[in-house]
Amino acid sequence: MKSSKKDSLKVKEYRSRLENAEGYGEVWEIVKATVKSSLNERRVGMMLFLDDLPLRLGAYHSLGTNNIVLNRALVNIVEAASKSKRLINSFVYVLLLHEYLHALGRPKESQVRALVYKISRESFGTDHITTQLAELGPWSILKGIPLDTMDVPKRVIESVKDFEKVDKKYII
Ligand SMILES: [Zn+2]
Repeated sequence: MKSSKKDSLKVKEYRSRLENAEGYGEVWEIVKATVKSSLNERRVGMMLFLDDLPLRLGAYHSLGTNNIVLNRALVNIVEAASKSKRLINSFVYVLLLHEYLHALGRPKESQVRALVYKISRESFGTDHITTQLAELGPWSILKGIPLDTMDVPKRVIESVKDFEKVDKKYII
């Protein structure tokens, strides 16, 4: 009883944090907190870059670096298609969580996908949009949008400033 009550409080807290998160840094904090609570693993000092990539690619992490590159063009399409901050943040969360798990030393896609689902389910509950995106794949919310024929603007790559700034605030 006790532990299930604790679990449901945790789910409530993570849901509300994700719904209210402003910007990539705050979503990233939730990625790190949920991984810590599900796997007890942590890695600090990651950097986030935004670039316009082919639309079938959500993000990538190059092995041996601290960098995650997120597909800005794809996130922009999701933002244009949905005004729901909960959905946009869930989409970004699932992509960042996937790359974070690679960065924590898991190169295998099948293993990472299974863990993204497990962590989302434990953190947000089975019926939450994040868990659904984790199960069906983030592209499931873009059904009906003709991604293959869309022109992607190619802008310069940019780094997200203060990506891990919130972290420091917690330490101080
Ligand atoms: Zn991957």
